[in-house]
Amino acid sequence: MKHTLSQRTINRLTQYHTILREYSKKDIENITSAQISSFLKIDETQVRKDLKSINCKGKCKVGYVVSELKNIIEDVLDYKTTKKAFVIGAGNLGIALSKYSKFSEFGLEILGLFDINEAKIGKKFDNKEIYHLSTLKNKIEETGANIAILTIPNKVAQEVADEIIKAGIKYIWNFAPSILTVPDDVKVWNENLIGSFLQFCAISDIK
Ligand code: NAD
Repeated sequence: MKHTLSQRTINRLTQYHTILREYSKKDIENITSAQISSFLKIDETQVRKDLKSINCKGKCKVGYVVSELKNIIEDVLDYKTTKKAFVIGAGNLGIALSKYSKFSEFGLEILGLFDINEAKIGKKFDNKEIYHLSTLKNKIEETGANIAILTIPNKVAQEVADEIIKAGIKYIWNFAPSILTVPDDVKVWNENLIGSFLQFCAISDIK
């Protein structure tokens, strides 16, 4: 689902959603922008601006209805549409990601993993099987999955990206520290934990 929200706004909305889930679990009915801003240590006007941008209007003193706000964020960020993905590279990171059951709450369903190491083929983790990469095209046709979570060594990232695109992958969530060259109709999101850590260092003056 495409919308006009900035990456930063999307990121903040996911954080608001985390707070709303906690409120919801505790059966708290309302939340104010001041409460959200104090949890996240951000400016209250930013919270109000973000919520206005998704057409959420709070009431004076009462704030927002938790269940409504939570639902609106889920709709806007499309949590409820299932997006099917395969992990490519069944190593430490690939297995850890495929075991993370909470992804499904946000619309991401990991159907299985692919690798080329014969010793791994056929093994299962939480009912997710490791298949040989040569069978990816068939599995895509069978399941309709079009997302690849790329967790392979950097040195093979481009050649594997070429291979999975040929097999029908249209979206790549790339964890390998590699800038991939892909056709215009393929979208890549580069995950970068080091970048996040360095941003953290920069804003918090870690010694
Ligand atoms: P790993 O060595 O444990 O796993 C890599 C897996 O890829 C292995 O199972 C291997 O058999 C498989 N593989 C190798 N060549 C392949 C090919 N041609 N086709 C299919 N599978 C192939 O590595 P890891 O620790 O899980 O790390 C995976 C990647 O994630 C690395 O590139 C690492 O740098 C990166 N990483 C990124 C972040 C981040 O912030 N984005 C964080 C940690 C790791």
